[in-house]
This record gives sequence, structure tokens and C-alpha cells, in this order.
Amino acid sequence: MRFQRPKGTADILPEQVGEWQLLEKTARELFERYQVREIRTPIFEHYEVISRSVGDTTDIVSKEMYDFYDKGDRHITLRPEGTAPVGRAFIENKLFGPEHGKPFKTFYMGPMFRYERPQSGRMRQFHQIGVECFGSRNPATDVEGMAMAMAFFRALGVTHIRLVINSLGSKEDRAAYRQALLDYLTPRYDDLSAYSQTRFEKNPLRVLDSKESQDQQIVAEAPSILDYLGEEAAAHFQEVQSLLQYLGIDYEIDHRMVRGLDYYNDTIFEIMSDAPGFGGTLTTICAGGRYDHLVEELGGPATPGFGFALGMERALITMKAEGVELPHANRLDMYVVGIGEATSAETLKLVEALRAAGFSAERDYLHRKPKAQFKMANRLQAEYVLTLGETELSEGRVNIKQMASGNEQSVPLKDVYNDISALLNQLTH
Ligand code: ATP
Ligand code: MG
Repeated sequence: MRFQRPKGTADILPEQVGEWQLLEKTARELFERYQVREIRTPIFEHYEVISRSVGDTTDIVSKEMYDFYDKGDRHITLRPEGTAPVGRAFIENKLFGPEHGKPFKTFYMGPMFRYERPQSGRMRQFHQIGVECFGSRNPATDVEGMAMAMAFFRALGVTHIRLVINSLGSKEDRAAYRQALLDYLTPRYDDLSAYSQTRFEKNPLRVLDSKESQDQQIVAEAPSILDYLGEEAAAHFQEVQSLLQYLGIDYEIDHRMVRGLDYYNDTIFEIMSDAPGFGGTLTTICAGGRYDHLVEELGGPATPGFGFALGMERALITMKAEGVELPHANRLDMYVVGIGEATSAETLKLVEALRAAGFSAERDYLHRKPKAQFKMANRLQAEYVLTLGETELSEGRVNIKQMASGNEQSVPLKDVYNDISALLNQLTH
């Protein structure tokens, strides 16, 4: 019997992991500049944390949850997204206290789980990097969030991206719009796809982002939520746009964009990739928005919020589609070739000493012939090769060669142990 990984999951192999570390490093360095600090919450949560905030009628909660009852009969789910867990942690750890700074800005990165139909860029275990900002209603916070997300992709060398924004207004605005949309869709109900017909009953706004062409035709003529924004929401959305313009950040408005989570109000946004290698379709690689009622909904003090999450798998697909150079095989500073069994103890001591001095170092463990060891040194792209034969060993010397220049030199072993950097300097000059 041979085991396979569960459907919709991936093994990230050592030769791929450099790409992932690049995303993580880029995020850490960038977010630091925005004074956003990392948070790590559990991989699983009480089911209600998610159902309460993301919303019972959303696809995420109604179809995609990895939930189960544990041995203590608690209803648990693997987290499908990061905002609700971070909201829960914000309340539970009283991060709204003044000592934590206001607004409280935090980021997370890690696996999320959704029971979906797997395809390229759609996994059952996938990874997100997300940022949440609690405690500011200021439209400048919305724009800072969008700018941060755009800066992340720019830092990675991704250029074929578009920022798409919309406003969902206040709860009241949304209710008024919902009614208008119902009035519009009701006489057209029979022409909607079966999928949209069920969405229609549970949450008509979601019909707007249906991918079925028959729905899209109907939706094209539907009323726009932007015509239903109250005075405050309209002003907020206007200010967001003015600030984006002032910062020189290009954006498009899509009044049919609704987002698949219930907790949003006012500004929502997506970053789409139109990379030529993506197959000619627009793909959402990052999404977020304002959630001013989430914390209260989860039982905390009324606290506005804004955040976003980006899919790491999709970020990598985008980078590859755009031909961005990605890091691969790791580099090696030094390979130590040992000739003859008698050198084994000394080559081990050598690689250990080199590692302790801050270099990456490797030797042979499979009793390979010298020729095969040199070949290995080349395969690993070693910058220096140290060669130790039995004669050298008895003389207390070792040969060291800089591969790029071909410079080589026989040096006392004790000099290597004392100050390898000085030796390398000699070799390069
Ligand atoms: P979609 O419409 O593609 O299903 P979504 O609205 O469910 O996306 P969000 O919940 O907003 O996505 O998550 C934010 C980002 O996380 C997405 O833009 C995407 O990059 C990524 N993402 C979401 N679901 C998956 C998944 N199943 N596999 C890989 N990445 C995902
Ligand atoms: Mg989805």
C-alpha cells in the first residue's frame, strides 16, 4: 500500500521552499516598515468563531468548512481564513487596551483550510498572508492597507496587477440595496442559474459575483450599490478615492464586486492579476476590506477594522506567470573533499569548524571516490573546495581552492581553524 497526500494539499519540497521563504521574508520586511507586528493563532478554532463572523450563508461556512466534533464533543473547525481568529484573539487577549497601541496592527501567515474543488490556485490546504488593523475608522487606514498590499506585490516584482475597489456602505445602505436587488432579480428568477437561485434566497448580493454567464447577463443591468450609499458611506468612499489618487495608486471601481464574507462594510478591494501567463483570465490574488462590526459581533467592544489576505499559492503562480526570477537550490560556501578513510575524522571536524565560523559546508558520507566528491562539489556549486589527503593530514595542511578564480593554495590546518576568513582574503587577492 502506498499513501498519497489528501486531495487538494501539496508537499512543499526543499527545492521549492526558497520561493515560500521569499514571500515570507518580503512580507516581514515590508510590514515592519508599516509597524505591523506578527500574531500566531491556533490552526483550529471553535466553529462558532467562524460561523458568527464569516456568516452562515457564505460558501466558506455553508460548504467549505473542515469541521468536526472532538473527543470532548466540542464543535471545532480548521480555520478557513484569518480575520475571524485574529478578531477572537484581539478580544480574548484584550488587545484593545491602550498599552497595545491604537490602531492595533497585526499580520499572520500560515495555512488555511477549505473544502473546495481543487484546481490550480485553489487548494484545500492553502496559505495566506494577512494584515488586520483594529481601531481606526479613518479612510487613510483603508488606503494604507491597500497601499501595503500593492507594495508587497511590487516588492516581489509583480507588475501586471490591478486594484479594484467598491463600497458596501453601512448595514442600512446594504439592506436598502438588498431590497432593490431583490426587486430587480425576482421577475428574472427563472433565468438565473440553479446555483444563483439558491444564493438568491440566502443572500441576493452574492448573485452579483456569480461566474455563470447567464447570471452575468442579468446582473449587468442590475442596480448599483453605489447608488444606495448613505451620506456617510459615500463620503468615506470618496475620501478613499481621493487618497488613492493623491498617492498615485491606480484603481478601478467595480460596483458588482461583493466579496464572499459577511463581515465587510464600506470599502472592499481586490487585487487582480492579468499576467499574460495566467491563461487570459483575471485572477484574484489578494482581497480585503473594512469590517467595523466584526469585533462586536464576536462579543468584544465596538471596534472598527480593516484588513486583507493574499493567497501565497496564487502569488507564486502570478510571479511565475510574469517570469519573475525565483530563488531555487540553496548555495554552498565550502565543500570538503576527503581522500582516504583516515581523513574522515578531520573532514568532519573541518566542516563543523566552517559551520561554526558562519559558512555553509558539506562533505561526503558515502565513501565516494575523490572524483565523485569533486563532482558533488560542482553540483552543489561550492564556492570553495577544501581537499584533504592522507599526506596533507600527516603534514597538518589542507588545500583550498576558490572555484570561480581557480586560485588555490596549501595552508596549515591550524590557520583554517584559527581564522578562515583571513585565508579566504588571501586567496581572493
Ligand atoms: P475565490 O473567489 O477565488 O474563492 P475568496 O473570495 O474565497 O476567493 P478570500 O476568502 O477573500 O478568497 O481569500 C483571499 C485570498 O486567498 C484569495 O484572493 C486567494 O488568493 C486566496 N485563496 C482563497 N481561497 C483559496 C484556495 N482555496 N486556494 C488557494 N488560495 C485561496
Ligand atoms: Mg472562495
